[in-house]
Amino acid sequence: MLAGRSAPAQAVAAGPAFHRFRVGALAVTVVTDGTALRPDATRGLVVNADAAQVEAALRAAGLDPARVTLIVHTHFHGDHIGGLTRADGSAVFPQATVAVPEREWAFWMDEGEESRASEARRPAFANARRRFAPYLQRITRFAPDAEVAPGIRAVASHGHSPGHSSFLIHDGNAQALVIGDAITTPAFFMANPEWYPIFDMDPPQAVATRKRLLDRAASERMPVIGYHFDMPATGRVERAGTGYRLVPAEA
Ligand SMILES: [Zn+2]
Repeated sequence: MLAGRSAPAQAVAAGPAFHRFRVGALAVTVVTDGTALRPDATRGLVVNADAAQVEAALRAAGLDPARVTLIVHTHFHGDHIGGLTRADGSAVFPQATVAVPEREWAFWMDEGEESRASEARRPAFANARRRFAPYLQRITRFAPDAEVAPGIRAVASHGHSPGHSSFLIHDGNAQALVIGDAITTPAFFMANPEWYPIFDMDPPQAVATRKRLLDRAASERMPVIGYHFDMPATGRVERAGTGYRLVPAEA
């Protein structure tokens, strides 16, 4: 998710790889970084996106990785941090400060947590260290519910991962909620907020978080952005039966 006060340098036609909308004076661009196919949906957590795909999607949206000044992370699962580095380990975003939830950082950088993790989960710890390595001098850790940057406020949404954070993009009365992975597949987890995917690390906490976010998004009628929703990955949440449903934004 990228938000900025100025329009991108290049004017480009809207395409299926990205979606733009406004939150007050803030311009929000939702960019897909591609699809990872997994032979077995129950195996492991690490689904590393290819950095070349990330760069191609950013450039198609008129966003130059070299000009990105801030990257704000929801959590450290492999498919959300894989785009930070190239195959040779170098930084894709040479100018960017990297903001991370402090609890997420504490968990994934803890050797004790790593040693206690299941065999399937353990590689994700090494992956987190590797992806953040070229950014170590440029990492800021933010507290739950902190204002991470002007117009971007953290909304603690732990459960999917220990420090998972969603973000409220706000400008005046306008707001949008970046849900991250607190809700992945709307057809499953909006309709049935008490269901949980294999990727939720603390299911009871994730379910409570999901219900809280859905209630807020529906009550406040604000656009939501989900990192695993189909593009445009943006829409509004409506109550439906015993759960909710996503009304996708028009692409
Ligand atoms: Zn995740």
